[in-house]
Amino acid sequence: MDYEKFGNKYIVRLEKGEEIVTELKEFCKEQNIKLGWIKGIGAVCEAKIGIFKVDEKIYHTKELRGDYEITSLLGNISTMDGEVYLHLHINLSDDEYKTYGGHLDSAIISATGELVIEAIDGIVDREFNQDIGINLFKFD
Ligand code: FE
Repeated sequence: MDYEKFGNKYIVRLEKGEEIVTELKEFCKEQNIKLGWIKGIGAVCEAKIGIFKVDEKIYHTKELRGDYEITSLLGNISTMDGEVYLHLHINLSDDEYKTYGGHLDSAIISATGELVIEAIDGIVDREFNQDIGINLFKFD
């Protein structure tokens, strides 16, 4: 990964072989980014994506392998229990131009990843919501 910072925004390049979620979490820790938004494009060769089944309160996951364009990577940075918490969604298009999308668990860069991380000066924490079954934004 390499990056350049402009004001409160970071332009980021992810390298072949890097796992997106791990790299971004580490980057946020290093740069002390506790709140913000992430968007990006690129290409991956492996991905694990999920769909939250509201009735079951669990995520179902799907693994993809092959050539995929990241047609959209979008998500936010917050905190939970003092730790950086990423919530990322991704759309991936295959060699028939068909698109899969979902909650991003992990994905390996195959060519490059080109991202913008916008840091916001603030903190928004999360807490587990029993009714919904996921970690929601918590405001004071
Ligand atoms: Fe999600």
